[in-house]
Amino acid sequence: MKTITEQKPLEEITQYLEKCKKVYLIGCGTCATLCHTGGKSEVLEVKANLEANGKQVVGWMVIPTACDELTKYALEEEAKTIAAADCILAMTCAIGVQMISLHLKEPKLVYPALNTLFLGMEESPGHFTEVCLQCGNCVLGRTAAICPLVRCSKSLLNGPCGGSAEGKCEVSPDIPCAWQLIYDRLAAMGRLDELEEIEPIKDWSVSVSGGPRKSDVEAECADTP
Ligand code: SF4
Ligand code: SF4
Repeated sequence: MKTITEQKPLEEITQYLEKCKKVYLIGCGTCATLCHTGGKSEVLEVKANLEANGKQVVGWMVIPTACDELTKYALEEEAKTIAAADCILAMTCAIGVQMISLHLKEPKLVYPALNTLFLGMEESPGHFTEVCLQCGNCVLGRTAAICPLVRCSKSLLNGPCGGSAEGKCEVSPDIPCAWQLIYDRLAAMGRLDELEEIEPIKDWSVSVSGGPRKSDVEAECADTP
């Protein structure tokens, strides 16, 4: 599973950096490298662009996994150079941006150079498909491990909608109908009767509303006899 990102337009980045003359650039060696949005070559490309636009890039690095706790040590090693920068431009996913900001020795503005799009699975080299929106109450056990929330254009929990044609979604012929996929997979397992069960109205309270969700794994482990 990878965090899929795209590069923000250079104009947007330039606007962010309006008040910064000296910039430190950080890429990520994992998801952003795989997406060709924040690996070494993209970092060097942005560096050249910024310099052509009158910015001084005081330093750069590609952190192995920017969303990881080890980011703290990478930042410590580069602390002197980073101190000379007015701001940091992070070519990482949004988690990386927050991790960098959290572990900086001295507070400094960290700007995102990427848009974080979705959690994706690599279906073929360089081609990613969204597979989960982290709804907090997984229904994959009912849908032959195909997520109807992200794969169906209407996020139907009891599909199909009736607009599917030749296995494609009515929204676009480029989108396979999720409920056709679910039907086919259940049929192959001889479990079509499961489609007759009605999935109740979803409890969205455990999803992305009502503040940040938390999981205290340490406490749960301590409670286990
Ligand atoms: S049902 Fe929810 S948790 Fe399960 S794959 Fe879909 S979005 Fe993710
Ligand atoms: S055609 Fe299929 S994928 Fe498209 S909205 Fe209807 S059920 Fe969902």
